[in-house]
Amino acid sequence: MTRGDTDEHPTVTARSDATWWEFDDREALLLAEYAFHSRDTAGRVHGEPPHPYRAPLQRDRDRIVHLSAFRRLAHKTQVFTGEMGDYHRSRLTHTLEVASIARTAGRVLRLNEDLIEALALMHDIGHPPFGHAGEDALDECLKDHGGFNHNQQALRLVELLERRYPNFPGVNLSQEVLEGQRVRSEKNQPRTGWPLLEVQIVDAADSIAYDAHDADDAVQLGLLDLDELAETTLWAAAAERAQRRYSALDDEQFRQAAVRELLGLLVGDLLKTSRQRLDEASPSDSRAAQDGPTPLVGLSDEMQEQKDSLEQLLFDRVYRHPTVLEQRHLAVDALKTMYQRLCSQPSRLPGAWAVRIQAYGLERTVVDYLACMTDRYAWDAHRRCTRDDP
Ligand code: MG
Repeated sequence: MTRGDTDEHPTVTARSDATWWEFDDREALLLAEYAFHSRDTAGRVHGEPPHPYRAPLQRDRDRIVHLSAFRRLAHKTQVFTGEMGDYHRSRLTHTLEVASIARTAGRVLRLNEDLIEALALMHDIGHPPFGHAGEDALDECLKDHGGFNHNQQALRLVELLERRYPNFPGVNLSQEVLEGQRVRSEKNQPRTGWPLLEVQIVDAADSIAYDAHDADDAVQLGLLDLDELAETTLWAAAAERAQRRYSALDDEQFRQAAVRELLGLLVGDLLKTSRQRLDEASPSDSRAAQDGPTPLVGLSDEMQEQKDSLEQLLFDRVYRHPTVLEQRHLAVDALKTMYQRLCSQPSRLPGAWAVRIQAYGLERTVVDYLACMTDRYAWDAHRRCTRDDP
């Protein structure tokens, strides 16, 4: 509302000839000079006219939300499978928590929230069913055919596999969104310059989100107890803050309060440290923010060390917990069985997939098909596959 408006009669002043260039003005007002500004976009592979009221990166965010692969995240494992309960995170709710943390941090640092949201919502769409167990199984299946990696698969989905437009394959995202995802898939390869600050924020938010929610989920599922978590300095600090803030909490309230404090400690440190580094470097634009000996977004050394210890505990006691490993073995077996059956009998592939064999090869096409499945769909397909041909 503008000054002079009343609740009953707000003044609507949108111009009828509005173009996305108005968003350029908005960005100039709201974003820091080191943020990525839409005016600097390298555009899309296939040229498209500007949208009348959405900025380019907003369109990318919307295109990602409308992907079949995005919807399927609701029924894909993050760490714990659907059979284990209904409290813990799915791949979709993990993604939404990442987007929420990243957007909050991006707003404080005056970064481009549209780019952040697009990157965050896209970051896990390439995950196959059954979490990292599924990824390892498919990678092994393709060991002689280029391997499988969920970050690369996300690019494959938006550049090739999702068919939403008659004129081109994929959804024709802006180069910055594609590049941000490419950076994730080439993390261990040498590169010149750091990724855009928006990419760095999403990466930090991903890691903060999974540490906090995996601890929460593991305790709720009874795979880890609070005393074990309190062995780490970071959880102990979060627990102490929760106890100081509230006088009487039952176990569940305490766990949830401590998770909130944990998120607060991590995000607070991320913002403080990144703010200091940005102030010191004072990059004049988004490109200058990619130079320098160290990335400008990150945790303090002390907090990073504490976070690493928490991750080690989660790795040792949760990700390798017998219950989690048992689910993992079942999932790996199911995917490998389906891979072998489909490769030996390609006529079992649905028609829309079978036509891709010529372009991408049989093995890659089978894995594309398996990777698209939700956990539930994969178990049904596995049941059908072993029933027809035990
Ligand atoms: Mg993630």
